[in-house]
Amino acid sequence: MISFLEAAEAHLHRTAELLNLEPEMVEFLSKPMRVSEFRIPLRMDNEEVKIFTAYRVVHNDALGPSRDGTRIMPNLTLDEVKALAMIMTVKHAVAGLPAGGGKGGIVADPAQLSRHELEQLCRGFIRRLSPKGAWVDVPGADIGTSGQTQAWMLDEYEQIMGFHSPAAINDKPAIVGGSLGGEEATGRGVFYIAVEASKSKALNPQSCRVVIQGFGTVGKNAAKLLHNEGFKITAVGDIYGAISDSVGLDIPKLVNHVERTGSVVDFPRAKALSNQELLETGCEILIPAAVENVINEENASRVKAKIIIEAANGPLTPSADDTLLDKGVTIIPDIVANEGGIIVCQFERTQGLYDMYWDLATIRKHLKERILKAYEDTVNTASEIRVSLREAAWVNGLNKVCEAVRMRGWV
Ligand code: NAD
Repeated sequence: MISFLEAAEAHLHRTAELLNLEPEMVEFLSKPMRVSEFRIPLRMDNEEVKIFTAYRVVHNDALGPSRDGTRIMPNLTLDEVKALAMIMTVKHAVAGLPAGGGKGGIVADPAQLSRHELEQLCRGFIRRLSPKGAWVDVPGADIGTSGQTQAWMLDEYEQIMGFHSPAAINDKPAIVGGSLGGEEATGRGVFYIAVEASKSKALNPQSCRVVIQGFGTVGKNAAKLLHNEGFKITAVGDIYGAISDSVGLDIPKLVNHVERTGSVVDFPRAKALSNQELLETGCEILIPAAVENVINEENASRVKAKIIIEAANGPLTPSADDTLLDKGVTIIPDIVANEGGIIVCQFERTQGLYDMYWDLATIRKHLKERILKAYEDTVNTASEIRVSLREAAWVNGLNKVCEAVRMRGWV
């Protein structure tokens, strides 16, 4: 299987062909503009000193200050961070956000650290990260980070600078200058797109069976909103297993069950399924909202959904993509479908810079407008130049980046 970085590069080269990009532009965009690798020495609770490796990659900042997540995970690699930074450049552009693509992380297992050690690691990351700040590079949260880690990072930045600067760090809690609606944003964006996509296929919610893999932040929020709208969520799964109910699962009760037991498994009166069966269950909409590569060359031909909405990052391998497109399945790619979070991060930044904070209704209204605009632009480009939605999204995103690069006279 090709690596995450190779897959991102393949998308870039395919888009370069579609846009007929000049070779210098392709060379410039193939590699990040800036790569930092640095060490964070940390005195552990037992007085031992451990040295952690950290990365921050800025792929391209022609459209604005680079932004996006910080992963803290034991098997993090620089190649993975480079791939994610490249994808962030395109994602921000697809959503029409004035932001460049950045990504960072620390090679560490947060589960093995005490709260005090994790705090010191996050503070160490910010102390040694350079350059940084609201107008340069803004770290957000990702795997292994949370509102709490972002609050520590913000505090460290403000202590160093000697002034408040809420727009310097993203995904922080509202009480320290974060935005309302951040937690639900990605699931809510997936919901808005599911509603539009079902309309485009003349499906009404009552006759639309939805299957969701992953019942965490994204999957659960999408499920709750779809259920409220009248969609039938007929099967869901998590890392422990999956369940189905052909008349539709009672999602509020399932949310309570998951809060009590930690999993969807053993939900009363539901049928148990394996995770593989879940993805192959007959449905109109399939939402993979867990991990990457779950639909691959092995199982793609057995997937029965009419529409797949990629809520997770990279849930379909390139060969699965080809198989499903040949079968006539509509695939709404991750770089459009899961943009809700980065859109609300833009609102977080705007609110921080203005020092004026919006209510939830305002955030939801603007989120809906933004994500549906990105979706509509993607659909229009796909039909104009006769490519898949994924290719269309890359074309729209990369086109904006290239325009900014040329306008700045870089290439
Ligand atoms: P989460 O950790 O809150 O939930 C993940 C869910 O997936 C859990 O229910 C977990 O049990 C399940 N899961 C994990 N491994 C699995 C496996 N191998 N098979 C089946 N189920 C599995 O994560 P999340 O924040 O909901 O993110 C889900 C996906 O969406 C990830 O790919 C993430 O990168 C992507 N994403 C998240 C956001 C966001 O705002 N949280 C934004 C963009 C993209």
